[in-house]
Amino acid sequence: MKWLLVALLFSAAMLSGQMRPGAKVEKTYGMGLPRDMAKLLIDDHEYPEYPLKPGQEAYKDVDGYRIKDLIKKITAISLKSLDDGEQYWGRITGTKYDRMTTELMADEFTKLGLKVTRQPFTVKELWYPTHWEGSYAAGVRSGPLQTLFPINETRPTAAEGITAEVVWVGVGAAPDLLGRDLKGKAVLVYSTFVPGGRSHSASERAGLFNSDTLVTKAGAAMIINVIAVPGNGQFNPEGAPAGVDAVPTLTISQDEGFMLRDLLATGQKVQIRLKLDIAMRENLPSQNVYAVLPGVSDEEVMVMAHTDGFFQGAMDNASGMATAIDIARHYAAIPQAQRPRTMVFVATPDHHHGETGRDLMIKTHDWSKVSVILNAEHTSQTLLYMYNADLMTSNAISARRWFASGSPAFQQLVKRTFQDFNVSVYQVPETRAGGSLGAVSVFAPSFHIIDHVIYHTSLDTPELVPAVGLGYSERAFLKVIDETNKMSMKEIRGTEKLPNPVR
Ligand SMILES: [Zn+2]
Repeated sequence: MKWLLVALLFSAAMLSGQMRPGAKVEKTYGMGLPRDMAKLLIDDHEYPEYPLKPGQEAYKDVDGYRIKDLIKKITAISLKSLDDGEQYWGRITGTKYDRMTTELMADEFTKLGLKVTRQPFTVKELWYPTHWEGSYAAGVRSGPLQTLFPINETRPTAAEGITAEVVWVGVGAAPDLLGRDLKGKAVLVYSTFVPGGRSHSASERAGLFNSDTLVTKAGAAMIINVIAVPGNGQFNPEGAPAGVDAVPTLTISQDEGFMLRDLLATGQKVQIRLKLDIAMRENLPSQNVYAVLPGVSDEEVMVMAHTDGFFQGAMDNASGMATAIDIARHYAAIPQAQRPRTMVFVATPDHHHGETGRDLMIKTHDWSKVSVILNAEHTSQTLLYMYNADLMTSNAISARRWFASGSPAFQQLVKRTFQDFNVSVYQVPETRAGGSLGAVSVFAPSFHIIDHVIYHTSLDTPELVPAVGLGYSERAFLKVIDETNKMSMKEIRGTEKLPNPVR
């Protein structure tokens, strides 16, 4: 009996998130991760690691394991917010965890001898879910729904909550909705990666849930997206339905979503009760952090990284932040006389919340001196597959989106260097830079890689950010920077108006 109780408490603790996702408890993992997570995790040493080729010796000081240690320092801040009881946890702009994160960047750059300055700003308005809870009831069965997660900018429920009957509408496309009475219902939609949980098939991006979406027009009470990843992951894709008809829109794990689906399949009525409180927080203090490493000339190489992130945000964007710090370490170890250009590192903390910091940087920076911009964002990830009813990890590094804007010679340099340094990328590059780089790419030649699969989810843990891949991408970045340092600003930029992406 006592054993049963212990077992029940244990699984309740895991489900309620009391146990940290990613915390190693004899390889038992808590809420927010795929089934069989203990089995799926790969030791960093199990990824194939190719030796440096002749000519790459200048980069042998780059150690993916050291970058990964930095990532864990950063994700520890997120885990602290979870431990402190934040349901909307991570490195959220305007919170004290945001401040801890930008101060960590400032500390690391200072330790390396860079000159650090802070650029304060105010976040005017921050959508912040303060509390939510959901449960289901079907006949004699009832229980909590533990993996519900509100999608950014969604509407709250009334203070007393909503109770609504559940209907399953398949993938939520128009034919799935024909003839369905959705008025006042909790609409359950099955939603797949395209190619990540952030851009899932039912997201606003996919066009199913725009403001005049069929579901909201039909008067649904709430929308719940079952994110098609085996297990109990939590997901916070941006872009909940907006507009006057918008209703509370949340995600739920596949395991819980299928539990509801299977109850519906027995023919009984299933009800969901949801209470979602949202605060609009105003005028929150935040700051950009700049760190400068002087070179021979005052022409600049800029390295930018956004610092905010949902959940642990190990790849998004602790990977980019740690890479930026390690790039500073690499160049700080070289005498100034051998650094042709000044290096400027910029950490911006509100990529997911309006880009106030980045826009301030855009406004206040002197772009005439910037020779090239590297955006360090989502640099390494384990390649995953859907495998029968489960998720499968592999010891390969996932290919990434990429972008290179500037002269054809610069674009070819970027492409060739990625290949030379084992950095797998998509066949077709971005035509508009994604992530934090977009709005900056008009000001100077720029490049990045950006993984696009596991982010804005509790699956974004350090265990799925391979050290080997971190090393590969940083070495490629360093090589591109070194080669551009042999080119004039004009040669990097070319003659066309920026951004001039690869065609
Ligand atoms: Zn990001």
